[in-house]
Amino acid sequence: MTSNKRTIPLFSSALANQGIDLAGAMRRVLESNSFVMGKEVAAFEAEFAAYTGVAHCISVANGTDALELALRALDLQPGQQVACVANAGFYSATAIHLAGGVPLYVEVDEQSLTMAPQALERALRDKPAAVIATHLYGQLADIEQLAALCRSAGVPLIEDCAQSHGASRGGRRAGSFGDIACFSFYPTKNLGALGDGGAVLTANDALAARLRALRQYGWSKKYEVAMLGGGNSRLDELQAALLREKLPLLEQHNARRRAIAARYNQAFAKLPLRLPVSVGADFAAHLYVVRTERREGLRAHLAECGVATDVHYPIADIRQPAFGGRYDGVSLPVSEAACASAMSLPCFPGMPDEDVERVVEAVAAFFSGAGA
Ligand SMILES: *Cc1c(COP(=O)(O)O)cnc(C)c1O
Repeated sequence: MTSNKRTIPLFSSALANQGIDLAGAMRRVLESNSFVMGKEVAAFEAEFAAYTGVAHCISVANGTDALELALRALDLQPGQQVACVANAGFYSATAIHLAGGVPLYVEVDEQSLTMAPQALERALRDKPAAVIATHLYGQLADIEQLAALCRSAGVPLIEDCAQSHGASRGGRRAGSFGDIACFSFYPTKNLGALGDGGAVLTANDALAARLRALRQYGWSKKYEVAMLGGGNSRLDELQAALLREKLPLLEQHNARRRAIAARYNQAFAKLPLRLPVSVGADFAAHLYVVRTERREGLRAHLAECGVATDVHYPIADIRQPAFGGRYDGVSLPVSEAACASAMSLPCFPGMPDEDVERVVEAVAAFFSGAGA
């Protein structure tokens, strides 16, 4: 069966940004002739801090920098361990290495695929200097439990919210549970710029001051270097202005993502697929990920039907070639099984109902034998 239909993309910037006056925001910045650390950045930081419910927002150049600077702000020392998961695309590991630390891998929960509290409890006996919990695919981790464990062990908790802008539980949003929260505004994220961007949020005044210095040469004020280890990681005015146009639409965009996820969950309920555990407020539906032993077959079938898919993420951190076998003695069965069976289906704001139904039909056809 070869389809002559247009391929449904995994994500479309054109559809997601439809109807938003991004050109107007760009013109505003052009006319201001202020391009770095001006009014748009200050306003976006205040607006995003208020939205998330955290006192301070320090915008940075991207989500990876956000994680690295969070670790530097916590004064991570060379060789110290940082607990993180192994099924979230290596972003934590990248930042940990940049900050001079070493990842301490923690197993994930079989249902949510986010850090398992019981596994963290064991890992905390190794006295890591910090913990990074990733709200994977937009699903809030068991973050209250993780935060309680970190608090009683005296270990700071960083939330990686790069996929979970606006996810909430009990009226609290992702980023307001730990000591520091890191966000990415990469174009495909739930709140996405037209280029790279990121932010670090914290309620702690001292950490906020350190983060402000770290993102800009270590400055306490212009040309006064208060701390070593600073760099240049700033969000620019153009991206801040674009993000300010999009922030007021985040709730609506997340609602559309969730509605698509809910339709899929309902349509796939009887199929031999593992589905996302929640389509409620605690899931920002950044990615709609199913798990199946027949991943390669299903992906090939969907490609034939004109439905784009991807795998988030195919290689567990501990199996990455860069480690050269360093973790060969480590086994994380749930994380590794997830990497072998997970696949993502199209789910984004602006995705038409008609395309959602085409995806539903194409998946159903595979399991009814038409594509098997
Ligand atoms: C995208 C992402 C990052 C990295 O953000 P960049 O802006 O691309 O550097 C970190 N963590 C997670 C979970 C992500 O999805």
